[in-house]
Amino acid sequence: MSKKELKFNSKTIHGGQQPDKAYGAVMPPIYQTSTYAQSTPGGHLGYEYSRSANPTRTALEKALVSIENGEYGMAFASGLAAIDAVMKLLEPGDEVISTSDLYGGSYRLFKRVYEKFGITFRFVDMGHVDNIAVQINDKTKLVWVETPTNPMMNVIDIKAVSEITKKHGLLLAVDNTFATPYLQKPLDLGADIVMHSATKYLGGHSDVVVGALVVSDKELADRLYFIQNASGAVCGPMDSFLTLRGIKTLHVRMQRHCENGEAVAHFLKNHPKIEKVYWPGFKSHPNHEVAKAQMNGFGGMISFVPKGGSYDDAIKIVEKLKIFTLAESLGGVESLAGHPASMTHASIPKSEREKSGVVDALIRLSVGIEDKEDLMDDLEQALA
Ligand SMILES: *Cc1c(COP(=O)(O)O)cnc(C)c1O
Repeated sequence: MSKKELKFNSKTIHGGQQPDKAYGAVMPPIYQTSTYAQSTPGGHLGYEYSRSANPTRTALEKALVSIENGEYGMAFASGLAAIDAVMKLLEPGDEVISTSDLYGGSYRLFKRVYEKFGITFRFVDMGHVDNIAVQINDKTKLVWVETPTNPMMNVIDIKAVSEITKKHGLLLAVDNTFATPYLQKPLDLGADIVMHSATKYLGGHSDVVVGALVVSDKELADRLYFIQNASGAVCGPMDSFLTLRGIKTLHVRMQRHCENGEAVAHFLKNHPKIEKVYWPGFKSHPNHEVAKAQMNGFGGMISFVPKGGSYDDAIKIVEKLKIFTLAESLGGVESLAGHPASMTHASIPKSEREKSGVVDALIRLSVGIEDKEDLMDDLEQALA
């Protein structure tokens, strides 16, 4: 049976992998080398310089391609380096339509770095896909989607967006960091580019900073490979190895993240001190039906607002948590809590932030894979 035909859980372990040719090592060696001996100029075994390609990175890139049902994969030094490579497909004068509620670092890269080079970004609420078409003009080149969104857990209908981008000849890129291919496969839904901060669920152990792109189109892949090599923000061999190791347990981790996320979301929803809980698994979530159709589960990311909560109340709660660690990032085996207004989203002006619901009292949880009773007990004592 060819590895292409494997089911998802098997792909996380075997997809694109083969024992190392030298000694049969089951995990790819960490090829900690910058260069490769040549017998004559150009006479090499497929690798000449590790910015261009490195065998450990290749193993990771093949795994990424396999789990995202793509054809070509690229691993970068960080998620933002991967987004940066996509932006370099553009030229001055081009326009991008982006999700309004998105990762603060993506927003900062768009507004503070790329606007300076003459690229215009239009941020729209893509919960209603009709909002996209009205922003398209002859300068529009790319639609940037993040779903579920960070930190408001809005869900965007990737297939519906792809129908618009296809009709207008635009590229569609999807940041799949929150969902991972365990829950949703953007390329299958019509996206051209899928992007990851592999730092989060793919790596899964809070021990690397890595980014990734996967595409299906050869011409697009060639342009991105050129940028990856020309700009050079590549992922090192050790980080490639760790991310690959993480991917091998993605399915079992995600299963538990979803289970614990569901328990914690309901616990919060039923808690007298909670005003609002954002989690796409609730029937009352505005895009619950889309989430149900395009995702295989609802994940472990939850945001909530305590009743009558202020900035200081939110800070008090996150400081009191003991099992949830107060930290940036998400997607690791351990539960984390964050305060978007002062942490991940501090780079977005307050007025912009609040328009999309990122109020001062909002707390974001990355529910880990501990025993869910311990997680709920921890929240109970912090809210008391
Ligand atoms: C963390 C994150 C990024 C940025 O990735 P880095 O690996 O931190 O550079 C982009 N998008 C989302 C949704 C993220 O959570």
